[in-house]
Amino acid sequence: MPELPEVEVCRLGITPHIINQTVTAVIVRNGKLRWPIPDAVNLLVEQQVLAINRRSKYLMLRFDTGTLLLHLGMSGTIRIIDADTPVAKHDHFDLVFTNKKALRLNDPRRFGAVLWLAEHQDEQGFLAKLGPEPLSDDFSHGYLFAKAKKRTVPIKTFLMNNQVVVGVGNIYANEALFKAGILPTTKAGSLSKKRFDQLTDIIKQVLAAAIEQGGTTLKDFTQPDGRPGYFVQELMVYGRAGQKCLVCTTELEEIRQGGRSSVFCSQCQKT
Ligand SMILES: [Zn+2]
Repeated sequence: MPELPEVEVCRLGITPHIINQTVTAVIVRNGKLRWPIPDAVNLLVEQQVLAINRRSKYLMLRFDTGTLLLHLGMSGTIRIIDADTPVAKHDHFDLVFTNKKALRLNDPRRFGAVLWLAEHQDEQGFLAKLGPEPLSDDFSHGYLFAKAKKRTVPIKTFLMNNQVVVGVGNIYANEALFKAGILPTTKAGSLSKKRFDQLTDIIKQVLAAAIEQGGTTLKDFTQPDGRPGYFVQELMVYGRAGQKCLVCTTELEEIRQGGRSSVFCSQCQKT
């Protein structure tokens, strides 16, 4: 599943190709994504891309009359290709631009989304429930500690709640908790401010490192068969259940939390 670093690298990758370009055609081949692609997207013809932003895992293409939201869901990829590139299976949506390039969304499982927020619609309303961006100054020392007060939910589940902080998906939650020495089952409200502040710094580091690594794959966004991969190359715990801890050689354990896999070292991580 594309996580925040993949989406941010996608944003960085596509921006130079479509910023200030004007849409010449909108092609919907299969509008049955997680939600139906609205007819309003056809109004984008002759409109210019003014900016490409990201909020959580939504890419936001700004136009004069509103914002196009793109979400990659479970399996979506976005590429910038020559507009006449032959269509492949699962290529559901194209935005074609004056420079004869197209932004093409491919999504085999169709949990992705293409949504339109008109200028007068309340964007903040749509995204209001989302917590702060992990790499922003809003996510700083003291924030998690205050947010977790009296919460008995496990810290892993707490971190993956988009209303607490966005973009800390399963891989990054596992890795950050290992690096912070915190067992994933620890009650969120029981952690000290100091440990929360360390965890905050580590989450920022883990995500920033993933984005940096992803930068090396930017060329994939302009290749017809490009499949941007995942960027966390040096995983300490995620996907390593039953293998030895890379720090202390204890066998890593795995449990399920909220239907997701949590892998941890019972020696390196404490409540
Ligand atoms: Zn260990």
